[in-house]
Amino acid sequence: MKVQLLPVLEDNYIFILIDEKNREAAVVDPALAKPVIEFLDLNNLTLTKIFNTHHHYDHVGGNKELIAKYPKAEVYAGANDSGRIPFQKHFLNHNDIVSFAGNNAHVYYVPGHTLGHICYFFSISNSENHLFIGDTIFSGGCGKLFEGSLEQMYTSLNFLRENLPKNTLIWSAHEYTLENYLILQKLEPNNKNIEEKIKEIISIRKENKFTVPFHFENEQKTSSFFRWDDPELQKITNTFTNFETFCFVRKFRDNPPIVKITI
Ligand SMILES: [Zn+2]
Repeated sequence: MKVQLLPVLEDNYIFILIDEKNREAAVVDPALAKPVIEFLDLNNLTLTKIFNTHHHYDHVGGNKELIAKYPKAEVYAGANDSGRIPFQKHFLNHNDIVSFAGNNAHVYYVPGHTLGHICYFFSISNSENHLFIGDTIFSGGCGKLFEGSLEQMYTSLNFLRENLPKNTLIWSAHEYTLENYLILQKLEPNNKNIEEKIKEIISIRKENKFTVPFHFENEQKTSSFFRWDDPELQKITNTFTNFETFCFVRKFRDNPPIVKITI
């Protein structure tokens, strides 16, 4: 299964899954329809499925126009997003399975950013795993808590950390990586992994390349959002439980220090 990334709007990513054998495609979180249609036309592909992670406009904005153009395509989204997803046909719950191009994806319910948020985990082989995570995880961050609680987000992230293979590639829906890590550096100024990560991000962005997808293992090693049990981070934040540490990092990110973003 091939995945094509389309950058749209200011910093959104749309992902197109390609079934080369049958010339079919599925799209994850189409913020817009036009760039998707252009890509599909150019590559002689027909859209059969739309996988939405949550109801925000920059994830479902293209649904209506895509269904008009490809009326046989079916829209998948979370059961808890019922009534908020244009043309939703499948109402998914935790541990449901969907498929595309002969591959199954586990659906996981990951509330926090919103109350209906789900993600799609495709395990193609032991060495190839893809997680389409919407706005729940970013490189160096997690989604803002628009609807859910800190407890829900912590539980969602902890579930993913405990259950997904380390080699999973994470496809997040926004390019926030540089800003995120510059802010985390203010929290952890002596963290060498964060310093190295920033250098790496800058060199990627200088070439107009994308920091998405990224490896879950590296993220767990580097991002303060996944290191709630790291004694160093607990010391810096003066917190004593994993949950307290996670809350500190999330709140720090909610009122961030000013950082200068230059590539
Ligand atoms: Zn969102």
